Order: sequence, then C-alpha cells, then structure tokens
Amino acid sequence: MTDQNSAPFSGSATGRGSVRPRVLALANQKGGVGKTTTAINLGTALAAIGEKVLVVDLDPQGNASTGLGVEARERKLISYDVLMGDVTMRESIVTTCVPGLNLVPATQDLASFELQISGEKDRNFRLRNALEVLARDGQGPQFTYVLVDCPPSLSLLTLNAMVAADAILVPLQCEFFALEGLSQLRSTVMQVRAALNPRLDIQGVVLTMFDSRNKLSVQVEKDVREVFGAKVYETMIPRNVRLSEAPSYGKPALLYDLKCAGSQAYLRLASEIIRREQALRAAVA
Ligand code: ADP
Ligand code: MG
Repeated sequence: MTDQNSAPFSGSATGRGSVRPRVLALANQKGGVGKTTTAINLGTALAAIGEKVLVVDLDPQGNASTGLGVEARERKLISYDVLMGDVTMRESIVTTCVPGLNLVPATQDLASFELQISGEKDRNFRLRNALEVLARDGQGPQFTYVLVDCPPSLSLLTLNAMVAADAILVPLQCEFFALEGLSQLRSTVMQVRAALNPRLDIQGVVLTMFDSRNKLSVQVEKDVREVFGAKVYETMIPRNVRLSEAPSYGKPALLYDLKCAGSQAYLRLASEIIRREQALRAAVA
C-alpha cells in the first residue's frame, strides 16, 4: 500500500501545489442508470467551475468517449492499452470539446482485458498504478478530479476502478427496482476495502431520471433516503430529454443546452460534491 492511505486528502482537489487528484468511480452494475451521462456532465460541470478534470472511459461501449465528441476513428491510444501496460496514461489522454476536461478514450477492445489479464498478479492494480505514474510524471497538466466511467458489471474493469478510487459515486435511477443490486454493490465495496483499497468509500448516491410528477419517483426517493441517509445527494437529476439528446451531437448537455433543467442539475451536483469534499477534508485535518 502507498502513503495515500495515511494521508487520504493530500493532493486533493483544491490543495495548493498538490499533485494527486481525487479519483471518483461512477459505479453501478446496472446498465442504463446514468453512469455515463453523469461522468460526462458532472465532469463538464466540474471543469466549468475551474477544476482540471480527466474522464477515464472504462466501458467497452465507449459511450463517454462518444458523448465527449471523440469519435471512434480518433481513438488511437485507449484505456485498454493503458491497462495492458503498452502505453502510459499520459500518452493516451486526448482533449475534448470541453476546455479543462480531458479524456482517456475506450473502444470495444476493452472487452478482452479480463480474459487477457486474469492470470496476472497485478491485474486489480493496473488503473491505480497508471494514475500514480500520471500524478508523478511532471509532464503535463495535473488533474484535480478523475472520473472513471465503469461498465455495467462488477467485472475486473470495475474492480480496477474501485481499487484506484478514493470513493465511488453511485447513480441510481428512480424506478421500481432501484435498490435491487445495491446490497451486492455495497458488499463488493466492503470486500475491496478490506482486501485491496482501505480508503474506498461510497462518496454519495445520486438519484437520476427523477420525475416529481411521478408517484413512483417520489416513493423511490423516500426509500433511498431512508436506506442511505446523508449519503444521498440533495441534488437530484431530473428526467430531461436534453440530457439524452446531447450525446448524438457529441456534446455534453452543458454545451448543448446550458439552461436546460438537466444541465443546471449537474452544475448543482458539482457544487454539492465540492462542498462535501471540503467538509471531508476539514474533518480529517
Ligand atoms: P449507464 O452509463 O448507467 O448505462 P447512461 O448514462 O448511458 O447509463 O444512460 C442510459 C440512457 O438514459 C441514455 O440513453 C441516456 O441518454 C439516458 N439518460 C440518462 N440520464 C437521463 C436523464 N436524467 N434524463 C433523460 N435521459 C437520461
Ligand atoms: Mg455507461
């Protein structure tokens, strides 16, 4: 283990002269709950308020790459190459349409990572090691936030994200089965914390696709807040068609329509996350 465990917030987002970014993994083994939409738009919102953001696309579907305007043919060096140890993370980083937000893109090659690497001793640590090299190379922009967009599974890719992360952020869709599967996610987090990454925590749960006119949405909100208490962000992301349209233009919703309810919600979420991070820092100081 590294010195990061004894000084979890050294080099955190707003620390001066610091290097290590806060690494947040967007994780939920369910598909279609808003992980990628959150990676793209929360990343953009954090960049808009002055953070230096890196999105790492760790889903073979590559939706975060597409949604940030990096088309498949532009994805030369990808997260798969980084995990395989063929290139450094620095070499794989590309700019996006968002100032202050860079990307490590993904392609479907990533799907074969698990098979190729399952016999290797350091298979769970590939992302973490790559991020540590990035933080220390002194060669380019240093990031204050890294958002890792996970695939919809608790696979080796998600495990790599959890081992590399300071905390996970769980997007939860306001639907009937919202809580189903969360106990499995929680127990995976516990296991990772016990065996591989003692600093891992659930930073928060963000309710997505919320519809205040829908009784079910309201009931789900109530249930989730009962179970997770203060872990649930006050900010909820509304169901908003602009959020789902934006990726087809290769843009985050914040660039496609800044005023729409979805973009505004992601700006509020970014502020809330930064406030929460500052409170955590104050608590350990
Ligand atoms: P995941 O990454 O968890 O699989 P996505 O972020 O890709 O989920 O979202 C699944 C689908 O729902 C996408 O088509 C996306 O555009 C849409 N979507 C996500 N969040 C919202 C929202 N708040 N309102 C409307 N559509 C949304
Ligand atoms: Mg996704």
